[in-house]
This record gives sequence, structure tokens and C-alpha cells, in this order.
Amino acid sequence: MIVVIGGGIAGVSIAYELAEHVKVVLFEAEPELARHTTGRSAAIYAPSYGDGAVREHTVASGPLFGDGILTPHPSLWIAVDDEGVDHLRALDAEPLTPAQAVELCPILRTPLAAAIDRTAMDIDVMALHARYVRGVKQRGGEIRTGEPVTEVRRAGDGWVVNGLRVDAVVDAAGAWADRIAELAGVPTIGLQPLRRTIALARADVDPGWPLVADAADRFYFRPESGHLLISPADETPTEPGDARPDDLDVAIAIERVNAATTLGLRSVHTAWAGLRSFVADRQPVVGAWPDHPGFVFFAGQGGYGIQMAPSLARTGADVVLGRTPAPPRMSPR
Ligand SMILES: Cc1cc2nc3c(=O)[nH]c(=O)nc-3n(C[C@H](O)[C@H](O)[C@H](O)COP(=O)(O)OP(=O)(O)OC[C@H]3O[C@@H](n4cnc5c(N)ncnc54)[C@H](O)[C@@H]3O)c2cc1C
Repeated sequence: MIVVIGGGIAGVSIAYELAEHVKVVLFEAEPELARHTTGRSAAIYAPSYGDGAVREHTVASGPLFGDGILTPHPSLWIAVDDEGVDHLRALDAEPLTPAQAVELCPILRTPLAAAIDRTAMDIDVMALHARYVRGVKQRGGEIRTGEPVTEVRRAGDGWVVNGLRVDAVVDAAGAWADRIAELAGVPTIGLQPLRRTIALARADVDPGWPLVADAADRFYFRPESGHLLISPADETPTEPGDARPDDLDVAIAIERVNAATTLGLRSVHTAWAGLRSFVADRQPVVGAWPDHPGFVFFAGQGGYGIQMAPSLARTGADVVLGRTPAPPRMSPR
């Protein structure tokens, strides 16, 4: 039997892959699943966003999402200053002229340079999450909500989690992954949760606009249900917890989007924030410390946890089941 800790996209996706082979019990602290980072994402699939293993798993995930989850929605990268131009060169996206960028999104002020990722998509995150939950149950797995894990300890060859004797533990607790490691007496991986803010602004929006992102990662916006979804792409170091938006970050988002467009945004309809949790190299961590076999980290998905979920979950399950060693780039270190 294997315990998975955390009911966000990481936990339910790896639980689904494991449940094909072993009995799985998933513990989620909250009364409902996906309340934290997974329920607060911008729901974008952009193969040009992220590098290394992140990009490999994002690309590999594309065909694995299945029907009804992805909807084509190109990402337009713009450079508004020299720093942006430098970043744009490093992106794996098709160059456009500034005039072509404005043609695609007429409320843009003419950028210095632009590029487009035509493979980008919108992700129906809740449908994806629900599909994994159904799949876990169909495969005989058990999901226990409202049950925070408070005990993880080594017992012979296995582990005890909240009184349950199991062969292995998967730490998919998102921002809390290092807290779970501490509870288990396992060295931490140096995870840093970074707060990111999103707001829905009132604006006259054309649903056909692409997602527009600053190549230097200082803002992005896109049409969303009759509003404009905006973010200042903030990264404020934060303790694990229920992240709340800060008014100043919302104001910065409005200011940056207004500088890049002719929209003249003044107010927002609603705002939220979530924690994107990274280790130093910004790659996901999948695997166990050599001295602590059976305690497997599945953490550090950062800002890419949805777009790489299907492929990363398969790799994670292979590592937990011992079918493949943890890829060196993603090993705990
Ligand atoms: C604003 C924002 C925008 C984003 N946009 C995108 C995007 O466009 N595309 C993309 O791919 N990614 C995006 N991301 C990143 C993505 O949302 C995350 O990588 C992903 O949701 C992480 O999932 P997770 O399951 O690791 O974490 P979470 O969803 O936070 O799940 C962890 C779970 O563990 C539970 N837990 C913690 N401690 C315990 C315990 N002791 N016992 C039991 N359960 C416990 C928590 O309650 C929580 O439900 C975005 C993130 C943010 C914040």
C-alpha cells in the first residue's frame, strides 16, 4: 500500500498512475480537494514557458491530456524594453514583427519585439483534476479529505502514516512538502513558496485575443469570461498557507498592463493569489534521498504543475514503484 499526501493536481495525478498497480490511499488536509495552488492557477498550457525537465514534461503531456481538457489559445510574447528583447531571444517561439503582434491584439501599444507560441492552450484544470479523482476511485484507490497528515515515521522496511502501515509515502503536499519532510525526519529539499497574484479586471474584452505575456516575466493578461485576467507575475517569498492577494500587487498589475496597452484599466472585479513552490533550479523534484528510501518527494512543480502533470505523474509513479531510478536532474539534492 502507498500513501499520497496532498489532493492538488500533483497528488491526484500520481495517485491515479500508482492505483493501476497498487492500493493507494490519498490524504488531503482540507475538506475539499484542489483548494490551494491547483484551484488558483491561470490554466495555461504553454510549451515555450519553462526549461529543462519542465519543458520536456510539458511537451510530453500534450497528447496525454485526453479529450475536452485543452482548447487552443496562442500565447503572444512581447518585449517592451531591452531586457524583454534579451529574454525573447531565449524563448522557443516563432518571431513576429511588432505590427503583426498589434494585428493579433489591437489594444497593444507597439512592442519592441514579439513572438508567438501557436501550440499554447487553455487547460480546463477542474475537469482534469476531476478526471484523475474519478480514475483513482475506479482503480480502487481511496481519497480521504479533511484528514491532515500529522504522523509520518519509519517502521522497519516501510512507513507509518496517520496510523496506517504502508510500503511508501509520496509527498505531494505542494507548498507544505518540506513541512511533511520535517515531520518524517527526512532532509528537506529547500522548497520556497512564492506568492503569485491574479485579478479579473473590468474591460471591453475580445475573447479572440491571445494570452499576452511580457517576455521578461513582469506581467501577463488574457481574456477570461468577459473580463481581462491580469497578473503582475509577482514572486513574493511566503510561508506555506492560504495565500491572499495584496492590493499593491493588484495595482502593479493594472499599471503594467496599462503601460503595454491602450485599455486604461481602472478597477478589478475580483483577485486571488496562490503559491508557486520552487527549489533552487526551478525543476520538479521526483525521488527519495538515498538514506530515506520509500519517502518520495513529488514537489517543486512551481508555475508549471498543471501543464506537465500527465507526463510527470507517469514518471513519478515509475520512480515510486522502482521501475526507473529518479532522473538525475529531478532527484532531491
Ligand atoms: C497564480 C498562479 C498561476 C498559475 N498558473 C499556471 C498555469 O497557467 N499553468 C500551469 O501549469 N501551472 C500554473 N500554476 C502552477 C500550478 O498551479 C501548480 O504547479 C500546481 O497547482 C501545484 O499542484 P500541487 O498539487 O503540487 O499543489 P496544491 O494544489 O497546493 O496541493 C497540495 C495539497 O496538499 C495539501 N496538504 C498540505 N499539507 C498536508 C497535510 N499535512 N496532510 C494532507 N494534505 C496536505 C494541501 O491542502 C493541498 O491541497 C499557477 C500557480 C499560481 C499560484
